[in-house]
Amino acid sequence: MESYRKLDPARVRGLVFDIDDTVTRGGVLQPEAFTAMHRLADAGLALVAVTGRPLGWADLIARQWPVALAIGENGAGWAWVNGERFHEGYFCDEDERARHAALLETIRQEVAARMPHVRVTSDDRARRCDLAFDVGELVSLPRSDVAALVALIEELGAASSVSTVHAHAVPGPWNKANGASRAVADALGIDLAAELERWVFVGDSGNDAAAFECFPNSVGVANVRSQLDRLPVPPRYVTDSERGAGFAELAAHLMDGRG
Ligand SMILES: [Mg+2]
Repeated sequence: MESYRKLDPARVRGLVFDIDDTVTRGGVLQPEAFTAMHRLADAGLALVAVTGRPLGWADLIARQWPVALAIGENGAGWAWVNGERFHEGYFCDEDERARHAALLETIRQEVAARMPHVRVTSDDRARRCDLAFDVGELVSLPRSDVAALVALIEELGAASSVSTVHAHAVPGPWNKANGASRAVADALGIDLAAELERWVFVGDSGNDAAAFECFPNSVGVANVRSQLDRLPVPPRYVTDSERGAGFAELAAHLMDGRG
């Protein structure tokens, strides 16, 4: 991984960013990261939050943070505000989502029966399209348990995605990269694939893997170093500082490049 200073900010139009352990520490949004978001938005950059957190949270983030849109549940859906109007979109249609809900209920029951010490996340009530288990938020699940949980989720017919805090059962074909592509087209009318070199992605862990692979300007905040064994492709660039301070470093670099 190269220093984030090697990233050429001259033509950057937008920043797609992860939330947990990228702009937060211990689950709390860090002030330097939030200030940096405001500066970037004021300078005209499009900010896109993409998180494994629930779609119910994406609703709030889209309304309350200085972002163009917020994508939740690792790409399953998104929300944005245009003028006074609130909008939402989903990766899969209503019939598919109903089928996914049935699969997730099976997974919920099987995990409860076969790994009774594993708990669904405390943000479960705000989820609409996926199911997530706590691996590092209120509990710290050993890596062997995370591996067994992922194997069980996949055996039952869903894909899985693991962040520093949660292991997700993903019943549909979305991830942070294809979810961002659909969401940016839907909300902003931009063909992301046609101008990927004008966008930057920043994240920190396993559920960012698809985005690290897709975005040529991919950045890890420094704590990504502890997650490299979970990433088939590491980010191209890395910040000096961890979490929100690393995000703020990257933001300052992008601002400098805008003159
Ligand atoms: Mg994260």
